[in-house]
Amino acid sequence: MCGIVGYVGNKPASGILLDALEKLEYRGYDSAGIAFAGRDGIKVYKTCGRIKQLREIIAEESKSDSSRDGEFTVGIGHTRWATHGRPSDNNAHPHCAHSGKVAVVHNGIIENYLELRAFLEAHGHTFSSDTDSEVVSELIDYYYSGDPVSAVRRAEMQLKGSYALGILFSDYPWQIMAIRKDGPLIVGLGKDENMIASDIPALLKHTRDIFRLGERELAILTKDGVTVMDSYGERIQHEFEHIDWDIDAAEKCGYPHFMIKEIMEQPDAIMKTIGPRIHDGKIDLGLKHISEEDLKGITSIKIVGCGSAYHVGMVEKYYMRHLLGIPVDAELASEFRYDSPIIDEHTLVIIISQSGETLDTLYGLREARKRGARVISIVNVVASSIANESEDVLYTWAGPEISVATTKAYSTQLVLIQLLSLHMAYIKGTIDEKQLSASVDELMAIPKMLSDMLKKVEPIQYLASQYFNSQDVFFIGRNMDYSLSLEASLKLKEISYIHSEAYAAGELKHGSISLIEDGTLVIALCTYRPLLEKMVSNIKEVKARGAKVIAVINHDDDETENVADHVIRLPECGTLSLPSLTIVPLQLFAYYIASLKGCDIDKPRNLAKSVTVE
Ligand code: GLU
Repeated sequence: MCGIVGYVGNKPASGILLDALEKLEYRGYDSAGIAFAGRDGIKVYKTCGRIKQLREIIAEESKSDSSRDGEFTVGIGHTRWATHGRPSDNNAHPHCAHSGKVAVVHNGIIENYLELRAFLEAHGHTFSSDTDSEVVSELIDYYYSGDPVSAVRRAEMQLKGSYALGILFSDYPWQIMAIRKDGPLIVGLGKDENMIASDIPALLKHTRDIFRLGERELAILTKDGVTVMDSYGERIQHEFEHIDWDIDAAEKCGYPHFMIKEIMEQPDAIMKTIGPRIHDGKIDLGLKHISEEDLKGITSIKIVGCGSAYHVGMVEKYYMRHLLGIPVDAELASEFRYDSPIIDEHTLVIIISQSGETLDTLYGLREARKRGARVISIVNVVASSIANESEDVLYTWAGPEISVATTKAYSTQLVLIQLLSLHMAYIKGTIDEKQLSASVDELMAIPKMLSDMLKKVEPIQYLASQYFNSQDVFFIGRNMDYSLSLEASLKLKEISYIHSEAYAAGELKHGSISLIEDGTLVIALCTYRPLLEKMVSNIKEVKARGAKVIAVINHDDDETENVADHVIRLPECGTLSLPSLTIVPLQLFAYYIASLKGCDIDKPRNLAKSVTVE
């Protein structure tokens, strides 16, 4: 995955492209580059490292050659997250064909690149990188004999895999071209300037009128307009979408990191996500294609996602089974898609993805549809690929999430799937109107309880200060506490680089207890009341081996407090709101630990926000 941008207009392109790339660094940040088109041909700057380094290189160059300053008004840029070939200057994009005629930025994976590379080498083309992407510039160059549209289209027809491409031709220095398949690409329309980008925040400074390029559509942008053609070469017209997000919504608003800003935004994001869907104690999800009759006929459910989205499914499967009395499983998308899932028209597959572009999840969705299952997706990004390809989509209205480690997207996915469960339970008659209305009231009370919790972060900061030097941390829990442990552990490891594991507490004595030694931190989630006694025993077991224990407990649980070293006590609440409340102190704990360790919290090493590759 990566971020791509392109600009064509009257203004100097360099600053515009660099600023836009910075807004996309969450998508990848191991190397960066820009190619400009001008009267002397294509000029490429690229480097291993962040946009900051690229900015310095370009500034340096324009100092030494002041005649060039501001010369370029057309360019494409890239911030990379390597899939093929390590992060290096050579492997950074843009890739310029050796003829000097074509430059390309690519997001995705060209699956048949070795075959194409062999073909091109046999025809005298040479390569300077280890990437799959370089075959694209060389292949377009191979087909180019004066007509850029035909060259791009012929090359694109040979590509297998996923791609969003920005393309420059030295013979056409007044235009950029763009084409996509299975990767996002947005076109922004301005006055005397037009842009492309992988995501909206990159465009907001210049335009709020956008459209999303469709699968295999080819766009040609000049400063005066945008032409789009479908794969048959027919001209097509897109409706513009006006983006009214506050530009600040994509900025840090005074917080030191996006992650803490997004943690703090959770009450609001949850309210925005569930509030408009509740009327007079009833749920209105606004499903367009899956009717109440269809939902009544559902006999099993699969919840499919990757990472934190999968963890949402892990929590919800317990509730759904209990509420609906039918089999419900959570599946990792990367396993599900290859597992010949046993599903049919009576199976509901719930697909969860923040970006709506997670590639394994997208393919999981396609597999589910191919097998005839009913599919509802839960997605944060409007009109993303998963949203477009689902039968019905439920949007989490969390706003843009920039920090790589998800918080508000996770929380909104959780409450939204809970709403879906309650809605189904009511339709199926497994809960009555009174139970529905009580449950809905409970969900609606979450934002206020969360805001109160978020006003008292000091005890969590204290715990972080005691344990930020830990080498290993173990999270244990049972039932949905186990599922929450998975998310809490992921949060900690991804941003603080502390080794952490989540175990179903009953599994400890089957092996992992041998890892506990004097001073090892164990975080025990003890909110699931039916198995509290068992958790207390597990805490005693690890303490007997020297562990230090932080327990997350219910408001009235004094028994666990007596055995643990520290407790995080939740406010009084019902079972439906427990997961939403339990995860937040653990997000904060991970955040403050990473902050004390001086980690690059919003952009942890080796990770990227939107995983649009396998
Ligand atoms: N596959 C390309 C590469 O490794 C692009 C990866 C990306 O989407 O960032 O360079």
